[in-house]
Parts: sequence; C-alpha cells; structure tokens
Amino acid sequence: MNQSQLKPYIIVVIEETNLFNFRSFVNLLNQLNLNFVISPDPESAIFHAEYSNPDIIIIPFDPDQANAQETHRQLKQAKITQNVPLLWMNSYSEMNNQNPSSLATAFNALNPFVNFNNSQDNLLPDITIKTLKNQVKLQQELLIKLQAENQQLKRLATLDDLTQVANRRQFYTYLQEQWQSYERGYLSMILCDVDFFKFYNDTYGHLAGDYCLQRIANAIETAVKKVRESKPYLVARYGGEEFAVILPQVDVENARKIAEAIQFQIRSLRIPHLSSPISSLVTNSSGVACAIPGDQSHIQELISAADKAMYQAKFQGRDQVRVAPKIIE
Ligand code: GH3
Ligand code: MG
Ligand code: MG
Repeated sequence: MNQSQLKPYIIVVIEETNLFNFRSFVNLLNQLNLNFVISPDPESAIFHAEYSNPDIIIIPFDPDQANAQETHRQLKQAKITQNVPLLWMNSYSEMNNQNPSSLATAFNALNPFVNFNNSQDNLLPDITIKTLKNQVKLQQELLIKLQAENQQLKRLATLDDLTQVANRRQFYTYLQEQWQSYERGYLSMILCDVDFFKFYNDTYGHLAGDYCLQRIANAIETAVKKVRESKPYLVARYGGEEFAVILPQVDVENARKIAEAIQFQIRSLRIPHLSSPISSLVTNSSGVACAIPGDQSHIQELISAADKAMYQAKFQGRDQVRVAPKIIE
C-alpha cells in the first residue's frame, strides 16, 4: 500500500459474462475515493497485480455463475496473487439490474474523462452502499493492522533488540548483497570491540553495561552517518560488545578515517570506566580491512582480516585503530 496515502489499491475482477451494474459499482468505488482497476478476467488481474502490487482483489460473487469460483481458484494458484487478500462481494445480487452493462461500459466508466455524475444508472439501494462501505472499511482497517504487524516483524528480524542497530543476521545479508552489487569497487569493514567491558560490567553492573552498549551503538551510527550521509553503509551488532560497520565503495584509507571518527565519538561520550587499566573512560579498539569484491569465498577472508586487525589493536595497547596489511581480492 502506498504509505503516503494509506489507501488500498484494489483490483476488481468482473468477467464479461457477469451480469453486473458496473457503473453503479464504479461510482461507489469513486465515492469511497479508492484506487482501483477493473480486470476482465483472472489472467489480466494476475498480470496487473505483478505491476501494481494490489492490497485487495474483489470478486463480485454471483452464486448462479461458476466463473467466480474459477476466478478465485486461479488467483489462489498464481504465485503473484495467492497472498493478496480476496474479498468476495456477496451482496452482488442486490446490485444486479435489468440492463446489464457490458464490459466495455465498465472500462469506459474507468476512463478518468468520463463524468460519473452523468451516469444514467439507478442508484444503489442505501443498504447495499452501507454494507459495501462497511466491508471495505473493515478490509482497510485489517490491511493497515497487517501492514503494521508486518513491519514490526521485519524490524524484529533485522534489528538488534538492545541497541537497535542491525543484528548479526542482517550484517551477513547486507554484506552478501553489497558484495554482489559492488564487484570491482572497494568494500571496507570495521570491527569495533569495547575495551575491558567485562570489568565495566563487574564495576557498574549488567544494566549499566547494557545502557553503555546502547550509547556506543548510537555513537558509532552517529560517527558513520556524519561521513556517509545518504551513501550506503550498515552498522551492526556483531556480537556481545562488538560492532561491525560495512562500507561499500569506501577504500582502506577512508575506512581508517571513519574508524578514527568512531573512536573519537565514543571517547566524546565520556562514559566513566574506573576499572579500565588504560583510561578512566570507556574506549574501544577497531580493526579495518578492505576488499575488492569478487569471489564469494573472500567474504570470510574480509571478516577475518578485520578481526585480526582488531586483535592487533588490542595487543598493542587498545584504544586504537589497526588496519589489515593487504587488500583482499
Ligand atoms: P577486551 O578489551 O579484551 O575486549 O576485554 P573485554 O572485557 O571487553 O572482553 P571479554 O570478551 O573478556 O568480555 C566481554 C564482556 O562483554 C563479557 C560480557 O559479559 C559482556 N557482554 C557481552 N554482551 C553483553 C550485553 O549484552 N550486555 C552487557 N551488559 N554485557 C555484555
Ligand atoms: Mg569482544
Ligand atoms: Mg571487549
């Protein structure tokens, strides 16, 4: 659904053999200010669905005609439409009139230049309009609810609960995607690990530790965003107190600068760490590695290189950035 309008996009499948008061129905959809298109058969509905990503498909249902059942079966079988909610409009019979409109009339009625006010059709009985309005309203409400739930599920699947940066699964998904998209360019990675975080927990407690990790994740995001602005990147929680930054189309020198900006941002938080052997504030160590994407098997090499560089930073005193010695290609 188009988020800016929050208006469902509807495909109505009305077959030529279906005796139906198209004009009145189209008038009603217009009165309800809905986005819709009429398809003359299930095949064209499926074709249209591929491009319009509809929110509902409405099948006016005439119990005397087998077509509607067949239409339903075909739409449920097609991959593109099988998950689109189907609304059976069973107040159909109330809308039949003695002068069935042809399919051509339906398409004419959809033409934006036709003045619907001039329609000669009889008005629908109030009760039918009310029933339909209620059905569409319920469907709309359900769709909005489902969409919200769907978005929430997506968030849960990709974000780390505690820090609200990407989780490890999303780290791998993004890395794979970028690896494939930017073949031949550079792709850099930074791994950041909080220094002496076990001592931090021991001194200030686990809850304070959680809060500290949230602030660090936020500082990393802030530092990277300042440099990358609208260019692609991903900050993820790679493990307990370890974060990863993926930087597509960033060479090793610029990645090192970003890692240093992260160090600076974290230090600027000025989070006290009185049990740290190297500083009175929380610090971190970072490893930087860079690759020219190509062979899939090199993805793991990139992660290992960043990890090794990070451990070098630890061994050489912590609170610093180390860069892997060579570019992986
Ligand atoms: P180093 O400088 O070598 O990285 O030392 P360190 O103490 O940071 O490393 P170590 O691997 O010994 O300890 C990591 C600590 O991070 C231990 C673990 O309890 C803590 N930790 C991991 N995940 C979380 C979390 O979600 N919340 C809190 N509060 N602590 C966590
Ligand atoms: Mg660690
Ligand atoms: Mg650590």
